[in-house]
Amino acid sequence: MSRGVERAFKYRFYPNVEQASELARTFGCVRLVYNMALRARTEAWTLRQERVNYTTTSAMLTAWKKTEELAFLNDVSSVPLQQTLRHLQVAYANFFAKRARYPTFKSKKQSRRSAEYTTSAFRYRDGQLTLAKMTEPLHIVWSRPLPDGVSPSTVTVSQDAAGRWFVSLLCDDVIEQVPATDAVGVDAGLNSLLTLSTGEKISNPRHERRDRAALARAHRNLARKVQGSANRAKARVKVARVHARIADRRRDHLHKLSTRLVRENQTIVIEDLTVRNMVKHRSLARAISDAAWRQFRTLLEYKAEWHGRNLVVVDRWFPSSKLCAACGAHAERMPLHVRSWTCRCGRVHDRDVNAARNILAEGLSVIACGGGVRPQRESSRTGQSSAKQEPPGATQGIPVP
Ligand SMILES: [Zn+2]
Repeated sequence: MSRGVERAFKYRFYPNVEQASELARTFGCVRLVYNMALRARTEAWTLRQERVNYTTTSAMLTAWKKTEELAFLNDVSSVPLQQTLRHLQVAYANFFAKRARYPTFKSKKQSRRSAEYTTSAFRYRDGQLTLAKMTEPLHIVWSRPLPDGVSPSTVTVSQDAAGRWFVSLLCDDVIEQVPATDAVGVDAGLNSLLTLSTGEKISNPRHERRDRAALARAHRNLARKVQGSANRAKARVKVARVHARIADRRRDHLHKLSTRLVRENQTIVIEDLTVRNMVKHRSLARAISDAAWRQFRTLLEYKAEWHGRNLVVVDRWFPSSKLCAACGAHAERMPLHVRSWTCRCGRVHDRDVNAARNILAEGLSVIACGGGVRPQRESSRTGQSSAKQEPPGATQGIPVP
């Protein structure tokens, strides 16, 4: 069986001076339009209890462009401005569905600098990508080729805090679905990145410890520099570079792991950690592992969908580390420093492996009850919630451990 999917391919590129200034101008306009629309929607709601939708903000944009003060909005491509209004619409939809917090203003320093172009605003021909308002194609480093015959439907240009430019091409691709039979439970930990119900422990990416030491050094160096000095600006870029390197390595690592788990297993059970972590463990290590976990979950969600796998997210209050996976007895307390424990039934448990086994068992029972949970995501391109998935039906072929 094969399945058509939308897939993003991301590359670095090197703009010429003219392109860089065009893009910087576009990012600025995107940020301004987003913030103005957010302010308008917030005021309409708080002052008049009116809900403003995408269409209304789009009409506002047309009006803004006709004013003298905002006439400069006409100088950049109109498509990224429209797209940012769509992104705002998605942010609201996620907020109303309780999936996200209330949208916040984009800040010049903190927010991601990006602009999204749809087909009317770029030309892709013979491997050359040219954006609206530009005369020359972008100089892209094709680190891996686009699959044969595909062409992008959406192009997103961005610049990170380290000053690197990226272009992400969203393409329609076809994925061959090969059935698998195994099921696995995954526990997110502090000591190892992930623990599988098979007993396997997966550690953090290589070099992460060393990168973290480099990051601490770069931060200390930045703190010593005088406010507003050129050296301070340099030190800040240096910090951003180390951050970017850590993030790149982690993303690669999580990509490989999620691809492997999805290839090998028909059913993958994970825990919903959102609430648990809002309540306790506000440590740095926790914050980092939470960020990695969220990223990992997102990767699993779309890859499971691509490959026709079941991803089951078990309840957030499920006491995965306190249950004995062998006899079901419930330990009363399980402080974080306890790495292994012996149950009344005599079984000795590694804390994390035991938790992963419980997560798997809980996930399989959820499926057996027909209550399988499939991720539901909001698409920024349609602005509509993706249709509810059928619960993963048959439980045949899933071996019970
Ligand atoms: Zn037991």
